[in-house]
Amino acid sequence: MIETEEMEFAPRVISPESTVDDGDIEVTLRPQTLSEYIGQEKVKENLAIYIEAAKRRNEPLDHVLLYGPPGLGKTTLSAIIAHEMGVNLRITTGPAIEKPGDLVSLLTSLSERDVLFIDEIHRLSRAVEEILYPALEDRVIDIIIGKGPSARSIRMDLKPFTLIGATTRAGQLSAPLRDRFGVIQRLELYSQEQLTDIIRRSSMILSIPCTADGAAEIAGRARGTPRIANRLLKRVRDFADVMGNGEITQDIAKIALNRLEIDALGLDNIDRRLLMMIIKGYGGGPVGLETLAAALGEEAVTLEDVCEPFLMQLGFLARTPRGRCATRLAYEHLGIKTADSCDDGQLSL
Ligand code: ADP
Repeated sequence: MIETEEMEFAPRVISPESTVDDGDIEVTLRPQTLSEYIGQEKVKENLAIYIEAAKRRNEPLDHVLLYGPPGLGKTTLSAIIAHEMGVNLRITTGPAIEKPGDLVSLLTSLSERDVLFIDEIHRLSRAVEEILYPALEDRVIDIIIGKGPSARSIRMDLKPFTLIGATTRAGQLSAPLRDRFGVIQRLELYSQEQLTDIIRRSSMILSIPCTADGAAEIAGRARGTPRIANRLLKRVRDFADVMGNGEITQDIAKIALNRLEIDALGLDNIDRRLLMMIIKGYGGGPVGLETLAAALGEEAVTLEDVCEPFLMQLGFLARTPRGRCATRLAYEHLGIKTADSCDDGQLSL
């Protein structure tokens, strides 16, 4: 329990969710055009074609669904799409649209071909979602006026617009909503090389001197996520200012990241505790997510959305129908002798 409380006061440095601290820096560092946007080559190529085609036909871009873990650049990409289409961008989130009326006023305030970005679109309420269906399909909304037998429905036309929905969990989107997106793109975790480029670009914008291997060191520990890479850059800069001459070198980056308890592969203490719990507490697994969350005093969604995608990408964790298993690679990374306890053979992965 103590650890849970600690977390509330000291948010994870490597949380991919945006924090208040990220605010200004994120805006400064956001790439403005597709060519400035590093990585996600397939998504960029596809979008470039769709954007060009829509522009040639003088039409709005088809509705786009972007999915993938937080901090990978979904909001950034939607701003780029709006910029490339030469239209305005309106940003909101699923939970902020509480009532159908909120969505109606948003939709009716859009100008021709504007982009409406709804983050966490899987969290829209059912009633709000129902307004969205005809809006997306036929560019109309049906408003009910009055109550009881005298209630009547009026249909209103909307200006052509593009909805960009972002979600960390495409599986939680209802099928009727998912079907109304013409373009569905998944964002992948970034490679170390791509993150190195992102850090070099950010350090130039922020005028932070940084060597190539300093940038690579940070990139290697940023768990595939640009938001974390930029945040680590900021933290490491503090160490470079105080302990060195302001330049981020590989040595300074190593010292700083070790102090932040982020290991050579980017695992922090929650990741390590998660793996340790599976290994020491449950003989390597399988163990259910809820059980793990309770044992660690963490939210199940944090483990599922933040820790697990990364640990699975590293090949440290396997999700099986009967629960989570630690793999042999995880044992090796933590320096624990492999026990052959994961009875469904996952350890041999
Ligand atoms: P999401 O909406 O997926 O949570 P954001 O779009 O807010 O993520 O991105 C977080 C930060 O990461 C942005 O401020 C941006 O500076 C940086 N970023 C994300 N993707 C890229 C990219 N491909 N190239 C450069 N910087 C990026």
